Amino acid sequence: MSGAEEFLSSHGLTVFKGLAVAGVGGAIISKLLMSNNSSSPAAEGKKVFGRPGPVFTSLALQSSENVNQNVKRLRFALPNGKDVSGLPLTSALLTCHIPQGSYLPVLRPYTPVSPSDQAGTVDFLIKRYPNGKASTHMHSLSPGDKLLFAVVIPGYKWTANKHDSVTLVAGGAGITPCYQLLRGILQNPVDKTRVRLVFGVNSMAEALLRDEFEQMEQTYGTDRFRAVFAVADGEGVEEAESASGGMFRKGFVTEDMLKQVAAPASEANTKIMVCGPPPMEDALLGKKGWGGRGEGILARLGYKKEQIHQF
Ligand SMILES: Cc1cc2nc3c(=O)[nH]c(=O)nc-3n(C[C@H](O)[C@H](O)[C@H](O)COP(=O)(O)OP(=O)(O)OC[C@H]3O[C@@H](n4cnc5c(N)ncnc54)[C@H](O)[C@@H]3O)c2cc1C
Repeated sequence: MSGAEEFLSSHGLTVFKGLAVAGVGGAIISKLLMSNNSSSPAAEGKKVFGRPGPVFTSLALQSSENVNQNVKRLRFALPNGKDVSGLPLTSALLTCHIPQGSYLPVLRPYTPVSPSDQAGTVDFLIKRYPNGKASTHMHSLSPGDKLLFAVVIPGYKWTANKHDSVTLVAGGAGITPCYQLLRGILQNPVDKTRVRLVFGVNSMAEALLRDEFEQMEQTYGTDRFRAVFAVADGEGVEEAESASGGMFRKGFVTEDMLKQVAAPASEANTKIMVCGPPPMEDALLGKKGWGGRGEGILARLGYKKEQIHQF
């Protein structure tokens, strides 16, 4: 049974009502009906999520591992052991589940952290929010349970050397699209883009992917890639700072910190990309009002609209 058939047989009509209410268009629903789905037994080594648009593929959870108090690393098995996700850089996958007792599906985007050519599996880092509909559901999954991946959502269209330098400003779980892009740039021998990462976290326990970033700095050199963690609760920062030599700062992501770490707005062909919780994005991009956003830190630092991307 294909992922779509399986989903239909277990949820029947309710999914259509829900998808319609949730604003998912007719094109997607008709794709679901006609689905020549990628989880059908097919040629080996295919790209399961290789193109933007509807995919409606159910994947079984292979493993679930606690990374810290509220983050899990979830690994899903692709339909075939030789398949790869093939997900284009900076894209996300829209997950869909119907909570018990509801007929409305919950749809949320998540960005895999595994390389797009990883064979047989795809990995996610999922932060659980109190009462979060999708994140608590994902944290409750046990190996063998299935989750529907409905749509591949394209992100910022990246091509090698599109920009001379990129500054990634992430907060909390917003690190995942930044990490995906960063790794894609550094692992492409043709791409020479310099990358700066500023990662705002609540505490040292939430400093996700720290080892990976340290390793990348060592491999590529700090001229090419530099990471700085801004740790709101300063506990343990001094020890980490002296061990790492410049990677950790106390406090929030501030104007002053970005002045020191980010590629300046005046630099030719630079881009600054943001992915974080709403308060962080408001501070950086400006608070939302009637006429759009007000002035935020990035505008005060001189970045023009076309230099800024919000994931
Ligand atoms: C392109 C993209 C990629 C993403 N990739 C990932 C990823 O790889 N891993 C991951 O864990 N998340 C990721 N997210 C966030 C994810 O899509 C959900 O928004 C998040 O899991 C919360 O959904 P929920 O249904 O659990 O919470 P909801 O039921 O929507 O909200 C429950 C409560 O949590 C609060 N809340 C929700 N989201 C946030 C937030 N971001 N920061 C602070 N409070 C919040 C709400 O205010 C509310 O009080 C991504 C988001 C985008 C836009």
